[in-house]
Amino acid sequence: MGHSAIMKTYVNALEFARLAQSLRGEVGVSQLVRLTEDLPEEQPGHIVWQLEGRRDGAGRLYLDVQAHGEIQLECQRCLQPFAWPVVVRNALRLLASRSEVEAMEAREAQGDPGDEEYILAGARLDGLSVVEDELILALPYVPTHEVCPDHLDLAQAESEVVENESKRPSPFAVLGQLKKH
Ligand SMILES: [Zn+2]
Repeated sequence: MGHSAIMKTYVNALEFARLAQSLRGEVGVSQLVRLTEDLPEEQPGHIVWQLEGRRDGAGRLYLDVQAHGEIQLECQRCLQPFAWPVVVRNALRLLASRSEVEAMEAREAQGDPGDEEYILAGARLDGLSVVEDELILALPYVPTHEVCPDHLDLAQAESEVVENESKRPSPFAVLGQLKKH
């Protein structure tokens, strides 16, 4: 298992945000074990991701998360895998302590919709794990093709491609085919 090491991306999140640091990388979808747990096994795609720390005018600290790539999902209608392009763009408020988190939760419990997403920012926050969380949240609840390619349509589409690449069949060939039926 020695060669399968995945890049570890720990940051001190509060410092990362205060200093407006950034971190970026690329990871194979198949390496994101939690994300792909219930997804098709074949995951040839990659995710390009970026984290940026930020402090706003009021001194609040944020982690801006961006990621894009292609994930294989299983269509819940026809059960065929299909490539789903994912784009994630989210700002996470960083809270420094458990008590800040509790205060935020109390406000939400009182009906404040709390338009901000937040995480407890540890001294060792795994950046890639944050990216993976966001990708998991972005997955469609019931993934389906817009239009399922049933086998017939698929065969037809393929023969059309071949047809366009080669010369069109003569009308006589078509007539010959009709006669056979
Ligand atoms: Zn489908």
